[in-house]
Amino acid sequence: MMQTDVAIVGAGPVGLFAAFECGMLKLTSVLIDSLPETGGQCAALYPEKPIYDIPAHPSIDGADLVAALERQIAPFAVPRLLERRVERLEGTRGAFSLYTDRGDVVQARAVVIAAGAGAFGPNRPPLAGIEAFEQTGAVQYFVRRREALRGASVVIAGGGDSAVDWALALAGIAERIYLVHRREKFRAAPESLARLATARERGSVEFVVPYQLRGLHGEAGVLEAVEVATLEGESRRLKADTLLAFFGLSTDLGPIAHWGLHSAMHHIQVTPSTCETSCAGVFAIGDVATYPGKLKLILQGFSEAAMAAHAIHPIARPETALHFEYSTSKGVPALQ
Ligand code: FAD
Repeated sequence: MMQTDVAIVGAGPVGLFAAFECGMLKLTSVLIDSLPETGGQCAALYPEKPIYDIPAHPSIDGADLVAALERQIAPFAVPRLLERRVERLEGTRGAFSLYTDRGDVVQARAVVIAAGAGAFGPNRPPLAGIEAFEQTGAVQYFVRRREALRGASVVIAGGGDSAVDWALALAGIAERIYLVHRREKFRAAPESLARLATARERGSVEFVVPYQLRGLHGEAGVLEAVEVATLEGESRRLKADTLLAFFGLSTDLGPIAHWGLHSAMHHIQVTPSTCETSCAGVFAIGDVATYPGKLKLILQGFSEAAMAAHAIHPIARPETALHFEYSTSKGVPALQ
């Protein structure tokens, strides 16, 4: 059982910054995330990709942005409950209880949902016995460190940006790269497609089109080959030790979808000026929130975090009037 002013569901970039904004208003918070590490999509999906539209950072990699946010919230020593999915929400404005799948109960005066696309998971190809290969890392859906694939023989499956970007990023690192797609055409930025065509000409990426994944061959989680087939049934075995499957993310909000909050197309509707949902005391920010003019950008999520924290202050501290102050006047607590 934990008690806090604000329970933040989701420790992606926006949830992390919400913890900072709460701290600046002297509100305590707890971060809860189903992933084993903080950073949401930035950490899990594109840690080594540069982001170009974070204000005052001409370019910053996903992992570096998360590390910077962690440094920014460090003075507030925000507790985290990681590898826990929030399942249930009970209570009313000023007195909520959140329940996780690991049996934790967090009591909070207000709730901030910064759940992005939900407790997200990759769309997994329906291949027999895939779990054993997932456990050993022979089948992966996110690349954490491209250096880990140095000298590997890699099958990349998918036809979108992720498949194309990783084929390019691993060229020159992996020993062999097969790019498997069910169509001849890839859906990616024109510049990436041009680079991919060059990589193909140079022989650093071999196109396997129009093929689909059909099976995995190997023992005890050690992958030896990936079987692919055309719609007509013509099959090939690609010798490989790693399969990177990029078939998108499931954008299921999971249990949050059943909390009775007004939603539209898997997103939670909020009042734009406060980010409060249809349930008083429950706020939604970042990718999960929607309102007219919403842009799914990290910078917009940061601004929503500030608005939500200010709107929460009267709920958590009804006895104290909130006087707006700049951070330059307030400063931050010294690190212990
Ligand atoms: P997320 O980062 O999705 O984090 C949400 C977290 O909530 C996750 O960690 C999830 O596990 C957790 N969660 C959800 N439900 C639960 C639950 N029930 N219990 C516990 N935890 C839960 N944006 C930009 O601004 N600029 C870019 O250049 C850019 N490039 C991108 C490139 C790629 C390849 C991708 C995929 C996205 C990119 N984005 C970019 C989008 C950006 O990453 C998102 O806007 C941002 O991550 C949203 O942050 P968030 O904190 O709202 O959600």
